[in-house]
Amino acid sequence: MVSGIVAGRLAIVTGAGSGIGRATCQVLSREGATVIAADKNYAAAEQTIKSHAALASGFNDAGDHSALELDVSDSKSVKHAVQKTLEQYKAPPTIVVNCAGITRDNWLLKLSEEDYSRVQDVNLKGTFLVMQAFAQAMADKGKPGSIVNISSIVAKYGNIGQTNYASSKAGVIAMTQSAAKELGKFNIRVNAVLPGFTETPIVETVPEKVMHQMIKMIPLGRMGQPSEIAEVITFLSSDKSSFVTGAAVDVTGGF
Ligand code: NAP
Repeated sequence: MVSGIVAGRLAIVTGAGSGIGRATCQVLSREGATVIAADKNYAAAEQTIKSHAALASGFNDAGDHSALELDVSDSKSVKHAVQKTLEQYKAPPTIVVNCAGITRDNWLLKLSEEDYSRVQDVNLKGTFLVMQAFAQAMADKGKPGSIVNISSIVAKYGNIGQTNYASSKAGVIAMTQSAAKELGKFNIRVNAVLPGFTETPIVETVPEKVMHQMIKMIPLGRMGQPSEIAEVITFLSSDKSSFVTGAAVDVTGGF
C-alpha cells in the first residue's frame, strides 16, 4: 500500500528528462503518485523512470510509471500525449506539471527573431497547449485536479540577456492566474512556481563570473537544488494546498 500526500494520483510531468522535471517525478513518486515522465527526449524521460527505480531513490514501485515522448510546443504531439495517456491509464492525470523550458540567451540588440520565437513557443505556448489539453480531459471526466506551471523569478525582475525568456515566464504567471479563474468551477487548481537559480543543466551556459555575482545576491548564499523546487511543486499538486489557486510562489533562497 503506497502512502504519501499524492497517493493514488496519476501525474504527468513535462521536461521530465532532466533537472527540476526529473526531481519532480522523483518526489511525486515518493509521495505515492504514479508518474508519466514526458520529454521531447524520450531516452532521457525513460532514464528518469528507470534510474530512479533502479536506485530506489524514493520512487515507489507500486505505480505503473511510464515515459512519454512529448514536444510541448507541438499541438499534435500534445493531443497524442492525452490520447495515449487515456488509453494506457483509462483516466486523465489529475496532476499536471509544466516543467519543459529552454533558454536562448542573448542581448536584446543581438537576439534573433528565431531565438525569440523558439523560447516563446516552448515556454509559453507549450504551457498553454499542455494546460488546455489536459484540463479539458479532466473536465470531460469531471475530475478535480491540480496544474503547476514553472515560471521563473526573472519573470518579476527581468534579467540581462533574457528578454525572450523573462517575457515568456512572465506570460506563464499571467496565464496561470487567468486559467485559475476559469478552471475553479471544475475544481481544477492552477498555480505557478518561480524558481531562483537552481543547479540544473539549464544554467550551465551562465558564465561563472555572472553566476558568482548572482550567488552573492541570494540571502541563503547558494543555488537551489532541483529537489527543493520539486518539494514545493508536490505540495501544490497535493490536497495539502486545497485552497491555493492562482498563486505564484517564489522558491529562490530569498533572491
Ligand atoms: P533542464 O535541466 O534543461 O530541463 C528541461 C527539460 O525540458 C529538458 O529535459 C529538455 O530537453 C526538456 N525540453 C526542452 N524543450 C522541450 C519541449 N519542446 N518539449 C518537451 N520537453 C522539452 O532545465 P531545468 O532547470 O530543470 O528547468 C525546468 C524548468 O524550470 C524550466 O521551465 C526552466 O525555465 C525553469 N527554471 C529553471 C531555473 C534554474 O535555475 N534551473 C530557474 C527558474 C526557472 P532537452 O535537454 O533535450 O532540451
